[in-house]
Amino acid sequence: MNNTSVYQKSREDILEIGEKYGLSLNKLENLLEPDRIVEITIPIQIGSETITFKGYRSQHSNLLGPYKGGLRFHPSVTKDEVKALSLWMTLKAAIIGVPLGGGKGGVAVDPKVLTEAQIEEISREYVRKVYDVIGHDKDIPAPDVNTNSKIMDWMTDEYIKIAEKKNPETANHKHFATFTGKGKKGLAGRIEATGFGGVSILKELSKKLKLKPSETTIAVMGFGNVGFYFAKLAEELGFQVVAVSDSKGGIVKKTADGKFLPLDIDLVYECKQEKGSLNGCYCSGGVCDTRGGQLITNEELLSLPVDILVPSALEDVINDNNMQNVKSGVIIEMANGPVSPKAHHFLTSKKTIIVPDILANSGGIAGSYLEWMQNLENKVYEKDVVLKKIDEMMIKAFDAVWNESEKAKTNLREASYLVALKKLLI
Ligand code: NAD
Repeated sequence: MNNTSVYQKSREDILEIGEKYGLSLNKLENLLEPDRIVEITIPIQIGSETITFKGYRSQHSNLLGPYKGGLRFHPSVTKDEVKALSLWMTLKAAIIGVPLGGGKGGVAVDPKVLTEAQIEEISREYVRKVYDVIGHDKDIPAPDVNTNSKIMDWMTDEYIKIAEKKNPETANHKHFATFTGKGKKGLAGRIEATGFGGVSILKELSKKLKLKPSETTIAVMGFGNVGFYFAKLAEELGFQVVAVSDSKGGIVKKTADGKFLPLDIDLVYECKQEKGSLNGCYCSGGVCDTRGGQLITNEELLSLPVDILVPSALEDVINDNNMQNVKSGVIIEMANGPVSPKAHHFLTSKKTIIVPDILANSGGIAGSYLEWMQNLENKVYEKDVVLKKIDEMMIKAFDAVWNESEKAKTNLREASYLVALKKLLI
């Protein structure tokens, strides 16, 4: 995976679209540059050694509201990566129509080799280092790859400790609006918001393409927060989720003569919880419901002849090297940037329909927006109200993009950029 050029590739892609549609290139160049990128160091005592990790917060644009975006803990985190991800957040907030801007952060660390106490210390030190630039009206972080509500709670707690000393006049409930994706004072429905929003898009797209759920096969790469909920909620609507994977590989369920069969997503989840990874869940002739399943690599999953491919793990997984192998007619980008610009050109020229990340996974920012509002108003929103609102926001955004694609006679990625840029280049 080549993360160093993710931002550059994305920038060139957007400038090309700007040129094609006669947008102001000066304004566009200004918009593409982040307002600031804060770089920090996080020294942690590990045994007798002090190891220093690099951390970042990219604040891309606050034209439409405070910076908003996730925070990931992953060894591949770089300045370039957070820069690209923060740009996509700006576009996403514009598409989904919330008064927020774009931000993203990360720490270049592998949390899987650390203890919980070390992860907590990294989380708290991150907040101490970026305290001055975050806040409910400045920049609002959220969970992303390898971060979760527990980490957001540690961060909120650390933030409140400092804030109560520095800004005692600010009401405490507003401090909770500095982070979303929290456990304490979190939003009912936030955990599934991104996958749920992706399934709202799946429903709308299926109507447009006249796909019947019971005849539509789906493969999901990544079985974390986004991939799991997408798979589970798609299954609940009757779609045939036949393959899923995590970082170690995946499983596909087929008959001996190669006909795809639906997985039982709850059972697969239970098995992953028990065994630690999906590739431990193949139980040939065993009692678990993944029997009939076969182990596959992530590359094999991407080349399965399923109707819909849903990359929900990391960026750039469909690229120059493997784009020829993709056989699905539809890709829903639930991860950020999973299809490289070159692969996108190649696949759309073969009439593959690609729902871009900035539309498909914007259920996350829709949920974050509702959590932020709930904390600012010091209220508790009910889960069914939250999911209904997210569904409405996703449908509205999908319709705007679909209509723009018909009007401009272009693909959904270009149409999404056009919808967002029209709101941002004013
Ligand atoms: P997560 O950490 O919960 O899950 C990530 C999953 O991807 C795990 O199952 C992991 O095993 C798998 N994975 C990691 N490396 C892989 C590889 N090389 N090949 C295949 N699978 C691999 O993260 P998440 O929150 O589900 O985020 C996934 C993607 O969705 C990211 O691109 C993230 O930026 C994006 N996203 C997340 C949210 C959100 O609300 N969580 C919102 C918008 C976008």
